[in-house]
Amino acid sequence: MKDLNDNLDEFEQGPIRPPNEAFSLLVRVTRNCPWNRCTFCPVYKGAKFSLRAVADVKTDITAMAHLAKRIAPLMGPEGEVTKPLMQLLRDEARNEAVQVVRFLAAGGETAFLQDANSLIMPVTELVEVLTHLRKTLPAIRRVTTYARAHTVTKRSLAELTQIRMAGLDRIHIGLESGANEVLTLVEKGATAERHIAAGQAAKEAGLELSEYVMPGLGGRTLSEQHATETARVLRTIDPHFIRLRTLAIAQGSPLAGQRDRGDFEPLDDVEVVRELRTMVAGFTGMTSAVTSDHALNLLEEIEGQLPEDLPKMVAALDRFLDLEPHDQDLFIVGRRFGLLRRLGDLDDPAAHQRAEIALAQFQQRMPGPVASVIREAMARLV
Ligand code: SF4
Repeated sequence: MKDLNDNLDEFEQGPIRPPNEAFSLLVRVTRNCPWNRCTFCPVYKGAKFSLRAVADVKTDITAMAHLAKRIAPLMGPEGEVTKPLMQLLRDEARNEAVQVVRFLAAGGETAFLQDANSLIMPVTELVEVLTHLRKTLPAIRRVTTYARAHTVTKRSLAELTQIRMAGLDRIHIGLESGANEVLTLVEKGATAERHIAAGQAAKEAGLELSEYVMPGLGGRTLSEQHATETARVLRTIDPHFIRLRTLAIAQGSPLAGQRDRGDFEPLDDVEVVRELRTMVAGFTGMTSAVTSDHALNLLEEIEGQLPEDLPKMVAALDRFLDLEPHDQDLFIVGRRFGLLRRLGDLDDPAAHQRAEIALAQFQQRMPGPVASVIREAMARLV
């Protein structure tokens, strides 16, 4: 067990958080993933899951609050990193301190509980951690975490409500797909019906619900089912948030093995957009906010509030699909190399020209169909 007096500022952090929690305080309540079988996910492979002792997590929270107290007076009035703060970061040379700076710079109002499935903690322990977090850092306004659908359905409505009342506001569930064939293929460990039950239970308990969806996960064979069934499941749940994160096959992941054996045929960038066109058109009668805030997504225009922004999202997908093949390649390369952000940037002559040069260089170095070659290159970055 940790002793707070040994080192007042040391605490543990896990490897990942959702993109929109980049400025949140990261509180590690468990280590790694208790499921760890999803074939597309490299994050915790080879690492053993464990619960952390509640006393240790509470000591971590106290240490974070202490570090935040040391850092806050060293920050500039707009949250800037000042020289004394740079010195402190250099002296401490720790990523955790940097995360506390980011948290404070963003107002110090959000926290994220790591790692992959915090709801697996015994309810009394999770409640104790949340209570301590809220008491120690009272300025925090929003606490979120990842949770597996399977685990959510193992908690009663009373338990989920108790967790929410102790201070958890939102859960992020990796739906990935609403098609059972896809969920089985990638060993997600939850059926579409389980996802629906979990989503509905979380909402009934008053939790905000964010569902992650992975375009491309069905490959060529299951693309149609992936699109239509995912839309059906999302329509049934109507979560508060839908977050898109396009598949990139990580080196060494089990899915890379499936692909190498010929058991999984990945979509190229154009096919992913075609799949998304089918999926997003099915987001009818819903009130979710859709976000496309992951770097792996091609079109960040696929975002907005349903139902009013649905026509805008479909129009953006159609605009890309209606481009000539050369212009599709141009946008793909321009976007992936950071020269273009949105489809409308193609109308800017200077940006267009820069993308043309990048496309020519890309094709010289990496011959083959741009839409698929570039996805293979991106996978190396995952
Ligand atoms: S449940 Fe989440 S963290 Fe665990 S293996 Fe699947 S995708 Fe990865």
